[in-house]
Order: sequence, then structure tokens, then C-alpha cells
Amino acid sequence: MKIAIIGGGVAGASSAIYLRSLGLDVTLFEKRSFLIGGPPACHLHAGGNLYPDIDDEQRKRLLKESIEFLRFYPQAIEKRPTLLAVPTHIPIDANELENRAQLLAKHYKSLIEQDSANQVLGDPEHYALSFSKKQIEELRDLPAPKVPKNHVEWLIAFSKEADLTRLKFPVLLVQEYGINIFRLSAIAHLRLQGSKLHLCTRVTNVRQIGEKFHITYKKDGKEKEESFDFLINAAGFESGAIDDMLGFKFKRFVEFKAAYIAKWHGEHLYPEMIFHGVRGTEHGMAQFTPYPGGYYQMHGMRKDITLFEDGVAASTSESSQPKLPKKFIEWIERGWPKDVAMQRTTRAIEYLSRYLHDFKNAKPTPTPLFGAQQIPGEDITLRAAEVSFEGDRYARCEIVKVSSIFSMLDAITRKLIKLKALNKEQQGKRDFGTLLDEKAIDSLACEIAQRRGYPKEMAKLLIPYVS
Ligand SMILES: Cc1cc2nc3c(=O)[nH]c(=O)nc-3n(C[C@H](O)[C@H](O)[C@H](O)COP(=O)(O)OP(=O)(O)OC[C@H]3O[C@@H](n4cnc5c(N)ncnc54)[C@H](O)[C@@H]3O)c2cc1C
Repeated sequence: MKIAIIGGGVAGASSAIYLRSLGLDVTLFEKRSFLIGGPPACHLHAGGNLYPDIDDEQRKRLLKESIEFLRFYPQAIEKRPTLLAVPTHIPIDANELENRAQLLAKHYKSLIEQDSANQVLGDPEHYALSFSKKQIEELRDLPAPKVPKNHVEWLIAFSKEADLTRLKFPVLLVQEYGINIFRLSAIAHLRLQGSKLHLCTRVTNVRQIGEKFHITYKKDGKEKEESFDFLINAAGFESGAIDDMLGFKFKRFVEFKAAYIAKWHGEHLYPEMIFHGVRGTEHGMAQFTPYPGGYYQMHGMRKDITLFEDGVAASTSESSQPKLPKKFIEWIERGWPKDVAMQRTTRAIEYLSRYLHDFKNAKPTPTPLFGAQQIPGEDITLRAAEVSFEGDRYARCEIVKVSSIFSMLDAITRKLIKLKALNKEQQGKRDFGTLLDEKAIDSLACEIAQRRGYPKEMAKLLIPYVS
């Protein structure tokens, strides 16, 4: 059976790696010159603690999926915790957040009882720890270590920099780690060496005739056609365009968003810090994500920082492809206007410095991390989503968080078993193979970051990977 994958983002590249490991004949088409070069992902949502508005079932699912993601891509993970704080003016109950995080800790414990290899987020007793104002204040006079060795040490730099008068207590420290997108991209390239990978190749048309998909693609200025028995549409926010080529109607949203990068002092290691908020209002959540070399990524879930006034589009009865305003498509394809990038980055610095006063001295950089992402269906708050099918041979991968790849791959495997391309024993395979050479990942990740216009330091980990 010949399988085609359109799109080499996290969904498509992971599908190619996994299905090849099951012995299948896979061809991947990606219009960019590298894999996983679309919208960013800096946070592994191992429990969905950033989303007080989603229900506990979705949060448990994000936890389980994140554990699988971490086991599949251990060398792309930044193993530092996340600090969650609720500002005093935000109508979120900090005690309720704590109780909900404890539910997740129990769920994590039960996942470890099912399979001890799931213990990748540390001891479940330490999955979510809460700290009172007094406990944080007592840390202020301690020297901040270069590399924190325990949970309390991770909070020392926070206790010195954060304006505690603006926060409710308790604050929480959860084991939601980071993802390094440049390393993820490098790992995908290394894992797919020797595969049928067509980079710089745009799929321009797809027709289905009987059980075959005829794919027309453009590479090196030439148009070619090839037929396949199974098609995986992993075209990200452009999945609807592939649906339209095939005449499939499917509802979805797409949302354009951006995160920004600033340079600040790099003496201490900070946890990722989340100052909760109300999405889309002027009090949207503020997110501070540390990288090596004194670089920090920032989100502000306000329409003048991460979100955009006209940044959400929905599919219509005529087209499954939501139409974003033209300027966003141009930014995605050709990059941002420097003045807009600097203006929004500066605003992000100002916003974060409400909670971290000294951060006002951070310097903006002109290269945001950005892109459009898809949200299948009609609920724009959905965070855990994976794949839908048309018949048995067309899979439409629409993940909202990168961690959902295994829910997606298990469903695709089920279809391939039904089509007798795989046998039943291959369902749920989790033999993830050997680790890659760290130096090879490092050097390729740095090259990718630089080619994309980002500081090469951002391709490294704060906490180097140890197997
Ligand atoms: C600002 C921002 C921050 C985010 N932060 C996080 C986070 O912290 N954690 C998290 O889990 N998620 C995060 N996300 C969401 C995450 O980026 C997406 O879930 C993820 O990128 C989706 O992966 P994908 O493979 O489905 O799509 P994409 O990464 O968009 O991949 C689709 C690929 O298909 C290619 N393609 C499209 N059409 C064609 C064609 N016709 N021919 C050939 N190739 C084609 C594109 O070039 C692209 O490379 C964030 C998103 C944004 C925008």
C-alpha cells in the first residue's frame, strides 16, 4: 500500500516517522525547505494547566498524550517546570486551580501504575506543588542557583523578580515541560533520512478515482503526478484546501497567532511562568518562556499581542478552507513587516513587566514565532483533537496541540489494519527505537534556527538532555 502525506509539520512528519517504523511505504510532501517549520510550539501541555476553561477530561487527555509525545521525542523536550500564578484582578480561583491540578497528579499516578515507562514527568507526588506567599517570600534572600536542583530552587529567581503584591496565592509549580521546536525539526529530519521526502514541493491538486488518490505536485518548477492508496491530509491550517480539492465538506476554524522574543539577563534559570488571564481581553494570560543565552519567548493572550482582531476565520458552506485576511497569509509566506514585529514585541515586554518589573529592560528582537493553526469542528475552545476520516482511505489530521499525535496515529493505524496494510499486533506500537546522536541534533537544530532567522542559542536546551 502506498501512503501519501501532505504536510511536513508535527502531524505529517510524525506520521511519516511512525508509519515507516511499522514498515509502510510512505511519501511525504512539504512545500517548505524544512520539516516542522510552521507555527511554533514551546509548551508541552502535560495536563492543560494553562487552560482553566477546559474540562478535566480534556486535561487528562492532554496529560496522557503529552507523556506519549515526550516518550517519542525525548530529545526535543526542555525539562523545566511551569509556574502558574493568578493575578489579583483575574476572576480565577487559585485554590480551585490547585485542586484541579491535584486531580491530574492522581491521573498521572494511575498512568504510571498502568505502565512504569510513563513516569517521565518526575514523581507524581511532585507533579503539582503549591506555595503560599510566605513560602515564596522566604526564598527571596537565598542565592539563585545557576541550575536549580529541586522544586524550591526553581522558585528562587521567580521570588526575586515577581511582583508578589499583584498575585493571588497559592502559586503552583507543575511539571509541564517545554518543547524546543528547532530540535523537533532537526529530529524529524534525522529520523526521515533516506525516506521518500519531497521538500520544496507543493501539492497543487488531488483527485480521487475509485480507491486511488492522484496527487499533482510541483517541484523544481516541474509538475508531476503520482498515485497512492491512502492519503493523510496533514496540511495544517491549509487542510481545508485539500478537502476542497476532493470536494469534502468539513467545518473548522483557523487562527493566526504570534509569540515574541526578547533578550534579557541570563544569569538565572527561570521556570516557564504563566500569569493567568481572560483570553482575548486586555487582561489575557501572559506567558514567559525561557531559552538559553538570555532569550525569552512571550505570549500575551490579548488582541494587540498574541491574538489579532481579525485573526480567526471559519469555513463556509462553499469552502472547507477558512479564509484569513490576505496580510496574514503574506506574513506566513514572506515574513513580518519589521515595524509591526517590533511594536508587538515591545508591547509584550511591557505586558510581562507588569508582573516581572525588571523585564522592562529586556530588548525586543524583530523575529516573532508565528503561524496559523487549525481547530476542527465548531468549538473554538477545543484543545485536544486529532483526526477525522472520509471513508477508509482519507485521514484528515487536525491536531490543536502537538502532543495529540499518538491519538491521531492510533486511529490511522486502526484504519490501516482494517485495510490489511498492517496486522492487529501493530496497533498501539510504542517501541520508539534508539536515541539520536545529541551532537547531530544540536548542530542541525542550530542551523535550522539560523536559517529561519532566530538566534542559534534558542536551538539549545537549558537543561541538556540526559538519557
Ligand atoms: C503562536 C503559536 C503558539 C503555539 N504554541 C503551542 C504550544 O506551546 N504547544 C502546542 O502543543 N501547540 C502550540 N501551537 C499549536 C501548534 O503549532 C500546532 O498544533 C501544530 O503546529 C500543528 O501541526 P500540524 O502538523 O498539524 O500543522 P503545521 O505545522 O501547520 O504543518 C502543516 C504543513 O503542511 C504544509 N503544507 C500545507 N499545504 C501544503 C501543500 N499544498 N503542499 C505541501 N505542503 C503543504 C505546510 O507548509 C506546513 O509545513 C501554537 C501555535 C501558534 C500559532
